[in-house]
Amino acid sequence: MASTATLPQVDHAHISAMAESVTLPPVVPHHEREALLLQAKTLLKQQDAVLVAHYYTDASLQQLAEDSGGYISDSLDMARFGHEHPASTLVVAGVRFMGETAKILNPEKRVLMPTLDAECSLDLSCPAESFIPFCDANPDRTVVVYANTSAAVKARADWVVTSSIATEVVSHLHHLGQKILFAPDKYLGDYIQRTTGADMLIWQGSCVVHEQFKARELMEMKRRYPEAAVLVHPESPPDVIALADVVGSTSALIKATLELANPTFIVATDNGIFYKMKQMAPHKQILEAPNAGIGATCRSCAHCPWMALNSLRNLISTLESGQNEIQVAEDVRMRAMVSVQRMLDFATNRPSFSKK
Ligand code: SF4
Repeated sequence: MASTATLPQVDHAHISAMAESVTLPPVVPHHEREALLLQAKTLLKQQDAVLVAHYYTDASLQQLAEDSGGYISDSLDMARFGHEHPASTLVVAGVRFMGETAKILNPEKRVLMPTLDAECSLDLSCPAESFIPFCDANPDRTVVVYANTSAAVKARADWVVTSSIATEVVSHLHHLGQKILFAPDKYLGDYIQRTTGADMLIWQGSCVVHEQFKARELMEMKRRYPEAAVLVHPESPPDVIALADVVGSTSALIKATLELANPTFIVATDNGIFYKMKQMAPHKQILEAPNAGIGATCRSCAHCPWMALNSLRNLISTLESGQNEIQVAEDVRMRAMVSVQRMLDFATNRPSFSKK
């Protein structure tokens, strides 16, 4: 059951306005792209740096990560890869909480980001100043936070989860008889609650990209493409999730394009993921699920404006200047490390956890 305790208000209008006001970097002309890729690759090597890019970043950054021995992944695997790679500098192309997570796990490494302005609406919706007192007011609940949160929020949590293991972790805790306080995504929390039946108090944050997907238009699209499978990220609204053939993390959705026999996929997540999907399943048709972008001008229709702030040019300038280094206060880092490490241990030992 979902708990009805009074939750702090989230200022969705303000967060949406922030997303709409992002100034995107200029598009790199095709004739400059190869030279910039080469320059970035050389700088990475010179500086003993490795690039870890999220699936939602620009295709040129994903290509650079692949060509330079780096990695493209979801936030759980980004954290894992950065931790295990021997490079002394990690360059994280994504949004700020991803850089912070890399620093939490790698205090001895320099962690750089192409920009420090890359926010996340989920992170913004859950400021530590209101989250920590709310946790303190609900001491009977195990605090589970999504990776899309600040280091300070992670430091207050008992567990950090990504979408790839959130349901399994909550199911595990539910079977141990624990009640959950989940933050910050209300749609992911609602999906986990319905899937596990756990007693959950759910923070009311949302992702500006995923909440734009529209169920009615998706139904019409399904009629037009009866051969298509619908792939949905669980940060989407419940009526969109209800129409999915597969609900899962970015990695799970990419895997579905490989494993399902359907010739066409309708995808409800950030369209940056199409780079990897088209690479993995080149003969299949990948279509964007309908969103508020039809006839509208929103910045966050199927593409995160903050992810789009990462570019080849600002990555090069970061490597040249050494600016945009992520710092996390050591006391916060050490407390956040406990909840992040719990997630990594759970992911490694899934079979033994699920037997408990
Ligand atoms: S796509 Fe949504 S959840 Fe992901 S970084 Fe952007 S705002 Fe945050």
